[in-house]
Order: sequence, then structure tokens, then C-alpha cells
Amino acid sequence: MSLMENVAQNAPVGRGSNPRLSREFDVLSGDGAVEQLSSLLATMKAAQRKSGSPDYDTRMVHLGKLERAVIARKHDIAKAVGMDFGGRSKHESLVAEVMIVVNAIKYAREHLHEWMETEPREVSWMFMPGRAEVIMQPLGVVGIISPWNYPVQLALGPLVGALAAGNRAILKPSELVPDTADLLKKMLSETFAPDHVFVVTGGVDVSEALSQLPLDHLVFTGSTRVGKIIMRAAAEHLTPVTLELGGKSPAIVGEGFSIAQAAQKIMMGKCFNAGQTCIAPDYVMVPKGRADAFVEECRAAFATMYPRIETNPDYTAIINDRQYARLQQALDDARQRGAKIIELNPLKEHLDPNARKLAPQLVLHAKDDSVLMQEEIFGPILPIRTYETLDEAIAYVNDHPRPLALYFFEHDQKRIDQVLRETVSGGVSINETMMHIAQDDLPFGGVGASGMGAYHAREGFETFTKKKPVFYQSRINGSSLLKPPYGAKIDFALKLLLGK
Ligand code: NAD
Repeated sequence: MSLMENVAQNAPVGRGSNPRLSREFDVLSGDGAVEQLSSLLATMKAAQRKSGSPDYDTRMVHLGKLERAVIARKHDIAKAVGMDFGGRSKHESLVAEVMIVVNAIKYAREHLHEWMETEPREVSWMFMPGRAEVIMQPLGVVGIISPWNYPVQLALGPLVGALAAGNRAILKPSELVPDTADLLKKMLSETFAPDHVFVVTGGVDVSEALSQLPLDHLVFTGSTRVGKIIMRAAAEHLTPVTLELGGKSPAIVGEGFSIAQAAQKIMMGKCFNAGQTCIAPDYVMVPKGRADAFVEECRAAFATMYPRIETNPDYTAIINDRQYARLQQALDDARQRGAKIIELNPLKEHLDPNARKLAPQLVLHAKDDSVLMQEEIFGPILPIRTYETLDEAIAYVNDHPRPLALYFFEHDQKRIDQVLRETVSGGVSINETMMHIAQDDLPFGGVGASGMGAYHAREGFETFTKKKPVFYQSRINGSSLLKPPYGAKIDFALKLLLGK
């Protein structure tokens, strides 16, 4: 039976799960994946055409179902992500995978009515008594390709916006988190009809196949390197893309700011998920002469948060051997180029590499051409640079690709304004790290090399909505003036408007 027949026969809209359909996708690979996904997409598009734009009540039901499913599975989520990481803090999972998604759903449900409203627009006197408005229309079927580091949040976050905007969606979780991917598949197939929300699992070839489809929108969250490949693939069908990418997010500690407080916040941001966060502070710039004090404050802050490492359930492991080796190589490279590396390890534990718990490493005097200063770190390693003037720190940021996030620790509003005005980044937290992502009313997205487009908040709804402009001509109107043969009337009107 073809996939399309399978969808049609086994799971009409609203009827729920279809395990056979899911099993069919377990064997997806290569060219077969493109064919089968094309078939799934065609089925979804046909269902979308048939059902039209879901009304407010229907969308509220969809969002409500998702919210209940996530809450009901919160412990399964923490467990699955924990299995995939080989040790992920349960609390980090409950906060970053569950709470953020649930908050986003609640926020969307609260605001959906106002977001869906048709916007009346102005009509110039020339076109009166005609009327203009913008109507909100779902785009259709959205593809969501997500990474491993927050595998639930980054799959379901975009889905919230897509469903609020009345779309259908095909999700492809990362192949590096198989337990979580299976859980997402199970959870969403039990919650939504397969022609409404479908999770495909498999390797990179399946992600590639998805990116090659004529989707109505594609959200990709992952590395800048793969983002370029995705955009190239999407260009074939002019599929609009939202690219949520990575990069090196700087933290700048202002001259008058407490080094202790800055160190606490920066270590919190760096150690959450063991630094495997797209908006983790990547490196820090402190005023000249303060680096040693900053190191000591980081040491104290870390020891307070994590008195021990290897058996500490709050301290997350590095996801896999490959990432662990990559981080070790970056440290070796920095060391060979003369950097000083300070490990934060309160009990001086001997850490088993097989457990992949990597103690935070502070790096002084890292050379600009070292891997640590060239590539996104994505682990608990923090290069510390010094600066003499704020202008110099700003110039360093601006000499590099536009970061996903920027952190500035400062109380002086003039200096804050200067940094906000003179740097361009995806988002900013002042006197804090990472918390801008948790603000439900703020859009989230990169700029330049850190991405394009945004979701979260109203912008999330708009990303997945065609804001369609409509002009209603009135029965009595002056449009005859605009058509040939042109004569005295239009000349008179043009003179009035434009002068002689
Ligand atoms: P990645 O780019 O390696 O993979 C992300 C996804 O892309 C995976 O699902 C994978 O299957 C797919 N993929 C890989 N190669 C592909 C290809 N050639 N064609 C099509 N799809 C392909 O990223 P990752 O290692 O999973 O995640 C880490 C990166 O993600 C970091 O750079 C991080 O900064 C970034 N990130 C960004 C955000 C954000 O919101 N901006 C959030 C989390 C992570």
C-alpha cells in the first residue's frame, strides 16, 4: 500500500495515530525518502485544501492537545533526553524542554484571537470608499528540522507557531537523539492525525530529503554550515526558510560591574546543558586587569552550583564521543598555541572520559586564530579576553560574524545604549545570560551568519502565516479616471497631487 493510501485509509483527519504509517518511515533512506515524503506532503496538502483554514476554536483545540501531551509526558521527555545524552540534568530538561514549550503554548492560546484578527488598513482618499485589509492565512505544510541539543524544545517550539497559524507539519528530529525522536514520534502520532502532524525519523539523508520538498515553509535549527546546505536545497522550490543557526555569542563585562555577579551569571549560562546551547555565552571580554579576579569568581560560582562533577545529576554530559573529542581537540589546539587553561574541578575528581562529563575550562590568552576563537564552542569551555575600552570590545564583536546572542553586564544606561546601538545580534540579555529566550513576548532568531527569520511570540505566528493584503473596490469608485483614454480629468487630478 502506498503511503498516501495508508494515510487516507487508516487515519482520516482527527482520528489519531497510525502506527503502520510510522513504521513505514522507519526504513526511509536516500531516494526512497524523497519519494515517500513527497507522497506524504501531497496527502497533507490535499487535506489542507479540503479543510481550509482552521478557525480559532479548532486551533485552540490543536494547541490544547499539544499542551496536554507534553505535560503528560514530561517525565518520559526528561528520561528520553537523559538516555540520549547519557546524563542530562532532569531539571534542565523539565525547564528547557517542557516548561518553555508549555509556556509558549499557553502564551499562544492567550493571544491567538488577537493574532488571527483581520487588520483593517488605511485607504487613501483617491480610492475611497474602497476598503483595505490584511487577512491571516495559514501557509500550508511546514517542515521542521531540529538539532540534538534541546531536541524537544526545538522541534515543538516551531510546531506551536505552525499550529497556531493553522498549518500542518512534518518534523524531522536529529538522528543523534534516537530515544527522544522515537518519543516525539509516538507522542505526536497519538495526538494528531498523520496528515496533520507527522514525525519522520532516520538519518541525515531523511533531513536532506525533507529539505528538498516543495514545502510551504521550512524551519531549520542547527549549525551555520548545514544551514547553507538547507537554504540551497530550499531554493530549488523557492521554499521560504527560517534558519535558526549558531555562532559565537559574546559576553562583555562592563568596567563598573561586579565581577562576582557577572561570573555567576556567565557560569550559569555556560554550564547549563554543559554549554551545549546555541545562546550560551561563547567567550567573555572583561576589563584589562580583571581577568584573574574573574577566574577566581568563576571558580567560586561553579563550586557553589556544582560541588562535584562526575556523579552530579545536575551537571549534564557531553552528548557523544565525537563532540567530546572535538572539545578536547579544541583545548589541545589552544594549549599548543600558548593559551593557559584553568580547569574548574572543586574536588579535583579524575573524570572518566567514557562518562563524558567535561569540567569547565577557562582559557586565558587564546590566540585569535585558534579553533576556540574561530568556531562556536558548544561546550563548557570559556575563553576570557580583556579589553581597554568599550569601543575596543564593540569593535571585536563587529569584526566577527553577527552573533546569535550578546550579553552585556553594565548598569550605566548610556553604555548599554551604546552597545545596543553599535552591535547587531540575534538577541540580547542585559545583566543576565540566556533569559531573553524565555520571554514569551520576545521574538527569537538570528541575524546574518546566526540565522534569518524568527519565531516565538507574535512573530512566530506571523512566520507561518501569509499576511494577505486585500483591497475591496466599492460599487461607486473613481477608477475610471485611471484608465485610457487619459484626458483632462486625470491631468487635473495629477496636477493636484504632484503639482505642475
Ligand atoms: P547540525 O546542523 O549538524 O544538524 C541539525 C539537523 O540538520 C539534524 O536534524 C540533521 O539531521 C540535519 N542535517 C545534518 N546535515 C544535513 C544535511 N546535509 N542536509 C539536511 N539536513 C541535515 O546541528 P546540530 O549539531 O544538531 O546542532 C548544533 C548546532 O545547532 C549548533 O551550531 C547550535 O548553535 C545550533 N543551534 C541553534 C539554535 C537556534 O535556535 N538558533 C538552537 C539550537 C542549536
